[in-house]
This record gives sequence, C-alpha cells and structure tokens, in this order.
Amino acid sequence: MRGLAVFLAFLVVAPSMAVAEQNWPGEPVDNHIFMSYAALTQEVNNWAEDNPDIVTLSSIGQSYLGRELWMVVLSDWSNETKANGEAKEIVYIDGGHHGNEYLGTALAWLTAKFYINEWNAGSEEAITVLQNTELHILIMLNPDGNDADTRHNLNLTTAANPLVSEPVPTGIDLNRNYDHFWDNCSPSDPFAPGAGPFSEPETKANAEYMNTYVTDADLYVTMHTGVWIILYPWGKWPEQPSDWELFHGIRDDVNENISDIPMQNANQGLYPNCGTSRDYGYGVMGFPTFTFETDDDQFLLFTFEDVNDRLSEELDVMRYLITNTWYWRARLVVEELSIQGEDVTFTVNNLGRASTRNATLQYVTGNEILWESDNFTANATSQAIVSSSGFDHDGGEWRLSYQKRVIHSSKFVNETVDIAYTKITTSSFSSSTLTWMLQVGAIPLAALAFAFWWSREEKPLEIIDNSTIEAELLD
Ligand SMILES: [Zn+2]
Repeated sequence: MRGLAVFLAFLVVAPSMAVAEQNWPGEPVDNHIFMSYAALTQEVNNWAEDNPDIVTLSSIGQSYLGRELWMVVLSDWSNETKANGEAKEIVYIDGGHHGNEYLGTALAWLTAKFYINEWNAGSEEAITVLQNTELHILIMLNPDGNDADTRHNLNLTTAANPLVSEPVPTGIDLNRNYDHFWDNCSPSDPFAPGAGPFSEPETKANAEYMNTYVTDADLYVTMHTGVWIILYPWGKWPEQPSDWELFHGIRDDVNENISDIPMQNANQGLYPNCGTSRDYGYGVMGFPTFTFETDDDQFLLFTFEDVNDRLSEELDVMRYLITNTWYWRARLVVEELSIQGEDVTFTVNNLGRASTRNATLQYVTGNEILWESDNFTANATSQAIVSSSGFDHDGGEWRLSYQKRVIHSSKFVNETVDIAYTKITTSSFSSSTLTWMLQVGAIPLAALAFAFWWSREEKPLEIIDNSTIEAELLD
C-alpha cells in the first residue's frame, strides 16, 4: 500500500511532469496528424534500434492484407527478473482494433513512448517500472482498417455475419471476433463478428500471443475511441464482474486523484457487446481488463490540439495502472502460524487489491502435498484467521496455493511461505490433548508436581531479575 500511496501523492502534487521529449510522434508525422501503418513501422523500428537496452520488437503475425502486427516489449533487459529474483510483473496493452479510432491507437503509442523517453531521461518512475515490469504493447492491431480509415478489417470475402445474412460484406469487426460468447448479444447487427470466433488473422494472432507470452499478466488495457469512458467487464452481462471490488477500488482511486473519467461495467456504460477482447481477456485469460475509450473523435484524420496535450490525462491514468500493477491481484502473506499438536491456526494478510477464494495453506516436499488446510477466502487488503486440523508431518516446507483473483479463469499461484517474516509457535499439545488432560485431571497433578519442585529449588529464575536490577543501578 505504501508504494500506491506514494505514487498517488506524486500524481496529485505533479500531475503534468515535464517530459524530456515530445512523445508523439516525431518524424515523419507532426503532432496533429494521426499515424499511418508506414509511419508506425518506421518509428517502432527506430525505437528498437536506438534503445536495445529496453526495447524488443517483433511481429506477432500479419493482417488480412499482410501487414505486420508489431509488438513492442519494454523492460530493463539487463536483468531477466526483479532485483530480488522474483518474476517481473506483466502488462499487456493493445490499440487499434478499430481502424478509425485514432486516439486509441495514439494512447498505446504514447504509453510506449513515455517510458522510452523517461528511461532515457533517467526518470526514477520509468526506471522503477522497467526494472520490475514487462510492458507488452501492440499499438495497431488493425493496420488495414487504420490506413483505410474504417472500423473493420478489410476481409471482404466473407459475409460479415452469416447468421443475419448481411447482403454486402463490410469487413469484420475485430472487437466482436473473440472466443467469448461470440455473436451472443442480440441483436448483433450492425456489428460484423466474422464467420466464427477467431476467424480473422488479427484476433487469432492477438489471442495466441496472450496465451503464449503474457499468461501471467496482471493488467490488460485495450484502447479505443468513441466515448470518454473506461470500461471494465462485462460487455455481455449487466452484472458486476466477480472481481468488482478490484475494479471499484481502481475507479475510486482514479476519480479521486487523477481524472474524472467515468469508469463502468461495459454493458451498462456503453451497450451490450459480445466477443470483445475485454471480455475474452477477463473471462478466458483471467486478466484484470479495461477498455480505454479515449475520446469521441472517431472521424477526423487530424486534431487541432497537440496529441500529447490531448491525451495527457489518459496517460496519467495509464501510469497509475502500470506503476501499481503489483496490487491488481491477491497477494497473500502468512503473518502468524501456530501448530498445536494436530491443529493449525494461521493469520494471512492479503496485500493485494483483489480478493481470492479457494486458497489453501499447504505443507509440501517437492510437489507432494503432505498436509493442506481447508479452503479459505481472503478479501482484498484485509486479514483472515484460519483454523484447520489434521497436521501430522515434518521435514517439509510451507506453501500458499490460491487464485490471483475471484474470476474462475484467473491463474493459480503456488508461493513458498517466507518463514523469515512469519511468527511461528508450536506445541506438542493440541487443543484435544488439553481437553483430555483436563478431563482426566492430569493438569492439576502436573501443577502440584511443579509446586513441589519449585519449593526445593533456590530461586531458579533469579537471573532474569538480576539483569533488571543492574539496569536500574546504572541510572
Ligand atoms: Zn473501438
């Protein structure tokens, strides 16, 4: 929480930090005109060439017309892990699903460029983020639609939606083509979800990347334009998502400290929508996912205001989401552990902002679970005290096993309990043993025996008193 508080304070005090260089977009496009695929290709290649220490560039596939889908990954590549040896946090960002939503694409671009420029300027924020995080940023998912200034991709061979028999093929709406309740919102017209889930090369490549390289992501932001709003799941249902606590917490932070931008469940905040990358990212991948709708400007090829200024508030929200990625899941820490015979009682703190269910404390050797507690729930940023019975082992180590978030698809983690930070007490007497002893009168007998022994010893505990007295004399 301390890190979060510090960062929030920083944003309040210095909302518009001076940057070393204009982030958008440099040659050959000026600060008021949106980006072509050719300009993007030149720019991201320059980034990789000029910044091999933090930028890797790859193509994750081709668009329908064969344009490359460029993936920029930013991190401090001098170290594979964080300084403490733990895996870096993973953030996934994509832009440009809809070819005519230029400011969404621009925000993905600006986010990448912000960290590159700030790293080169030696900013502490960028250095901390890149030492601890991998930012995977696909700026333009739909280069064909981008250059044609159209929402859909340019696959004109298939009827856009065979189920509603569209007479004229219009290309496919990539953000209705994901395999999560595909074409399951009624009515689906005028949206063109494609011939089936992942029928399009762009969405297929995006999902393959998610499933191969960023399964551990704790933040996914997909960037669009249309209304000034940030949407969280679901698009399919009006109900709040199972991790509503996390989403509402982020909403409150953003609205209190950074921006008045509305943040809502997509179905309620916009309209019912199915087969979106947001619902796929949350419902299938288990990521905390946001659709960032930057503005209502979909139809102009230029902007009167400098893009850097126009999206500076949105960039502040992105910096907050990225800096605090560590918090966007459950983070369990065993604070206290007590073993009384076969009874185990433990106190668990959840440092993360997401709740978890189905958590267990385990005693393991290698992959073998020797003992396991009952399932327990740990709510976000709170403490749980759990009692469980049946412990009868030694020679192993303690481990926590739990899901990162409540949503079923979120990943399970198995984390070794760091004993150095845990208060541990053990006793061979379990509560049932004590009960038995009381019942048979063993405790009064033991007390009698102790009193007899004490009376025959000469002040056996005096040494403790001596040290106290010496200290008083020194005064
Ligand atoms: Zn869109």
